[in-house]
Amino acid sequence: MTYNINNKGYYGEFGGAYIPEMLYPNVEELRQNYLKIMAEPSFKEEFDQLLKDYVGRPSPLYFAKRLSEKYNTKIYLKREDLNHTGAHKINNTIGQILMAQRLGKKRIIAETGAGQHGVATATVCALMGMECIVYMGEIDIARQAPNVARMKMLGATVIPALSGSRTLKDATNEAIRDWINNPVDTHYIIGSVVGPHPYPDMVARFQAVVSEEIQWQLQEKEGKTTPDYVVACVGGGSNAAGAYYHYLENTDVKLIAVEAAGKGVHTGESAATSVLGKEGIIHGSKTLLMQTDDGQITEPYSISAGLDYPGVGPMHAHLYKTGRAEFIAITDDQAMNAGLELSQLEGIIPAIESSHAFAVLKEKKFKKDDVVVINLSGRGDKDLQNYIDYFKL
Ligand SMILES: *Cc1c(COP(=O)(O)O)cnc(C)c1O
Repeated sequence: MTYNINNKGYYGEFGGAYIPEMLYPNVEELRQNYLKIMAEPSFKEEFDQLLKDYVGRPSPLYFAKRLSEKYNTKIYLKREDLNHTGAHKINNTIGQILMAQRLGKKRIIAETGAGQHGVATATVCALMGMECIVYMGEIDIARQAPNVARMKMLGATVIPALSGSRTLKDATNEAIRDWINNPVDTHYIIGSVVGPHPYPDMVARFQAVVSEEIQWQLQEKEGKTTPDYVVACVGGGSNAAGAYYHYLENTDVKLIAVEAAGKGVHTGESAATSVLGKEGIIHGSKTLLMQTDDGQITEPYSISAGLDYPGVGPMHAHLYKTGRAEFIAITDDQAMNAGLELSQLEGIIPAIESSHAFAVLKEKKFKKDDVVVINLSGRGDKDLQNYIDYFKL
């Protein structure tokens, strides 16, 4: 049994590239080149240099003393919240912009829901002086005004998706249409471990820097490279994929994937794909997704915009199906309270997405000697209004 991708682009039965004929040349060009390019010494050098000097890596692995005392176990936080732009997403967009340059592309397109991936993409386009077009649902543009302003400030063009429910999936359709019409000069930066092969694998490899660092940081602090548990929230699954990556095949390391239960898994307002999802095809890959009996994608719900996604990437579908990762669903209320607790015990205000991972501490009993690494995927600045409204601060 392997938990990584096979040479056909599948994790077990999930993955592949289910794309329209017209998109085939673009995806195939990427598939044929991505591993070769990533292995070039000059690519590695530039990627590592930018992660260090621009993103601010390595991100610290912080021993959370007061949190550990409260839960009577050893808790380390992987501080992706300290990255430039405030989350892990920049690791992937840096990798993909370098990939686009090596492929000779001049123009970048992306889709965004809450705007976080749009901002991370607009950031690296400004860094490299490349044209940037971000598709975003009209409804999301209205809901996420600060991120729209950030993208514009960074020089990106934000194009509203006016069809369907005018949210993420419609923005994705527009981006795919653009890519079909501009196959030669354009690269499509996907923001998570989703989409047709090779995207899930490429994004996982760019995010793998997270567990690569955890290994040597734990060696320094605990005298061993492996924790007992790695805990991460899952929207599409990229921060989790990065935190798990170097531990996937080592089953001594237990993996916990935290999904958003929204108002409760069975309330109809949830994004807990592992519980509610069925096999199907979304964004060009075969995976688990939330859908009606006749196969229409259902609108997910979570208080956190980054977990509000109707599927999970194929790696996570496989980790669920095989039992390699334990999936836990956390409600809005549980997440918000965990975010407040982390703020007051450690002086760190987490993104609401990351707060979901912390809520696991109340759900699951860890042993005193367990080393538990929680991936703190992002900082809470962007969520302050949500915290204010929820706690009436
Ligand atoms: C986007 C986002 C997520 C969810 O995306 P994944 O691909 O599942 O990691 C989680 N946390 C933060 C802070 C985000 O911005």
